[in-house]
Amino acid sequence: MRADTSIEVAIIGGGIAGVTAALGLLSNGISVKLYERANGFREIGAGIGLSPNAERAMLLLDPRIHAVFRSLATPNTENWFQYVDGFNKSQQGDGEELLFKVYLGERGTDFLNELVKLLPDGCVTFQKDLIKITEANENGMAVLHFADGSTSNADVVLGCDGLRSRVRGHVLGVDHPAVCPSYTHKFAFRGVVPMDDAVEAIGKEKSLTRFMHLGPGCHVLTFPVSMCTLLNVVAFVTDTEDWPDTHEATVPASKQEVLESFSHFGPVVKAIMNLLDTKLDKWGVFDLHENPVTRYVSEIGRVCLVGDAAHAAAPHHGAGAGSAIEDALALTVALKKINEVLTTNDSPISRNRAICAALSAYESVRYERTQWLVESSRFMGELFEWQTTECGRDPIKCHDEVESRSHKIWDYDVGDMVKQVSRVLDMKLSEARSEGQQQ
Ligand SMILES: Cc1cc2nc3c(=O)[nH]c(=O)nc-3n(C[C@H](O)[C@H](O)[C@H](O)COP(=O)(O)OP(=O)(O)OC[C@H]3O[C@@H](n4cnc5c(N)ncnc54)[C@H](O)[C@@H]3O)c2cc1C
Repeated sequence: MRADTSIEVAIIGGGIAGVTAALGLLSNGISVKLYERANGFREIGAGIGLSPNAERAMLLLDPRIHAVFRSLATPNTENWFQYVDGFNKSQQGDGEELLFKVYLGERGTDFLNELVKLLPDGCVTFQKDLIKITEANENGMAVLHFADGSTSNADVVLGCDGLRSRVRGHVLGVDHPAVCPSYTHKFAFRGVVPMDDAVEAIGKEKSLTRFMHLGPGCHVLTFPVSMCTLLNVVAFVTDTEDWPDTHEATVPASKQEVLESFSHFGPVVKAIMNLLDTKLDKWGVFDLHENPVTRYVSEIGRVCLVGDAAHAAAPHHGAGAGSAIEDALALTVALKKINEVLTTNDSPISRNRAICAALSAYESVRYERTQWLVESSRFMGELFEWQTTECGRDPIKCHDEVESRSHKIWDYDVGDMVKQVSRVLDMKLSEARSEGQQQ
């Protein structure tokens, strides 16, 4: 048994969760191999916004991550996220009534492509499609099996493989209902529009800061990206039909379909829809709300779920990537600590028990908040379309929900999370040590 060597971590998936976890672990001296199915890293789309909680997590994970984020962040022209009635034509201004606004802590950015430049050579292998994991071979390591027939060993496996995670099937069992995400019965038309065209059509104010245009059965999010050279448009529509193919994230759509979906909306929303390309895709919004993930760590205890693999939420809070970065920090803290315990060798604990304790501490601290995010993201999608019984179209009630839920995300005390992980892990390590001594 290897008692005094550094742990080896395998990361499945090179999205925000996998890359930030890799950087955090590497900067704490832990050996990491990242396996990505695709033949390169891919951005999820223009303009992922990262809120202050995510910024604090980046700083603690590896300040270089935060520096990259800052260098790419697109500033808003004002610090308010404004929610307007996109449906009823107002007699004032441009025809949209301001319902409420909340303080804006986010900036749109696309930073995965820059972030991966921080990864050292040899750490990432592309075109590695994980198909199976076998836990605990003869030397106690997990074995990863890839579609090309190759295998690899690791002490710890982090399943950062996104919404349609295969690692989730290993952790929960392939027949568990959460293995397949569910269609939320909302889809989104997404597009980016040259900023000059947007300013001409809807004016500077509406183009250069973040707006949510509310209405019955549809809502539209707009915000500037790429240093204000483009306007990002995400136009959500409630859908009574089933999604045509649950394995496909997008299906082709026509401009006609967009215009029809928003034909009953106000003038600003219609003008925005007119700006979209003639050929576009619609994105099915899937999440893990209907069938929640019941555990983040496998029964044997060396494999865990991170980011969307664990808690894929609908994008209505714009917080999934931020939450994945918080996960990466929690795991880094836990794995760093057991790595120190195992490599200094002054503590009678087996490698297996130490790893189980670390992953279990991660799950204990992260489960409740991240599952709440899945639930709350659904609620927000309904609120923006005046579908909740609690708020209906009452702007004060809508404001109060949006503000309190957003602040629950943004104001999260990431420093306290780090302390909690350490505290829970200490407890689990001491339980594990005494169990070990009794055997
Ligand atoms: C329209 C939209 C807008 C959003 N806006 C925001 C926002 O503003 N702010 C925010 O914080 N979040 C936002 N999100 C959510 C955010 O994008 C996700 O939560 C985040 O990207 C999840 O990262 P991840 O690394 O967990 O998963 P992913 O980004 O899905 O990465 C998973 C990776 O795993 C790889 N993979 C999958 N299976 C395998 C396999 N078998 N073997 C090897 N590799 C595999 C995939 O190729 C992929 O690279 C938005 C989401 C959407 C859809």
